[in-house]
Amino acid sequence: MIVVFIFIFGLFVGSFLNVVIYRLHRQETFVKGFSKCLFCGHRLYSKDLVPLFSYLFLKGKCRYCKQRFSHQYPLVELFTAVSFSLIFIKIFPQLAFYNFAILDIVTLIFWWAMTAFLIIIFVYDLKYYLVLDIVVLPAVVIAFIVNLFLGFSFLNLLLAAVVGGGFFLLQFVVSKGRWIGGGDIRVGLLMGALLGWPQLLTALFAAYMLGAVISVGLLAADKKNWSDKVPFGTFLSVATFLVLLYGNQLVHWYWSLF
Ligand SMILES: [Zn+2]
Repeated sequence: MIVVFIFIFGLFVGSFLNVVIYRLHRQETFVKGFSKCLFCGHRLYSKDLVPLFSYLFLKGKCRYCKQRFSHQYPLVELFTAVSFSLIFIKIFPQLAFYNFAILDIVTLIFWWAMTAFLIIIFVYDLKYYLVLDIVVLPAVVIAFIVNLFLGFSFLNLLLAAVVGGGFFLLQFVVSKGRWIGGGDIRVGLLMGALLGWPQLLTALFAAYMLGAVISVGLLAADKKNWSDKVPFGTFLSVATFLVLLYGNQLVHWYWSLF
């Protein structure tokens, strides 16, 4: 039952993340004004803004001008809800809060927050081929500090962050910025500070596997050319999330293939 509440909570957080992404792009402040339709400017009321359900009920169109909204909105809401639920199930497998340890609650909120950052990085890089400092740098600092509190050693996190950032810095320098963007260096820092050593390596490996599989798929389907830009931050954020939750299982599964 509690998972249902967390799912609904995740839908609302996802709805908020859509607003954050939109306003980051427009560089508006977060408090200003009502929600408005992007097309007709009509004010949107709470009945138009119920996450997921408004989209489904209105068949993805504005109630007032009938223009079609982007699939991004329900997908981000749904994905946030699913990932928030998975994190809860991972940390509280008994699906209840009884006998909880305070560290579990901290981990839950911390991982939710980090997932929110990763979702913003994912969508923003996919849409605009850009990783914003204002998103990724606060996440690095929060990850580093909270992970110290959760029992990682300072040296472990430092090593992972330096290797994560350095790995992309090296490629950036060698390729003069052609292979990857500067934003990927910062995402590398975040991966290190969030996952620690050696899970950083698992995540880098997973990101490249994911990137290779999806790129080959898109090339085969004629959707992309070899010269097209790759939103690598998108792969990095997916890999980071998967390793955060299922790092050990992924390592075991991978070795079991041989
Ligand atoms: Zn409209």
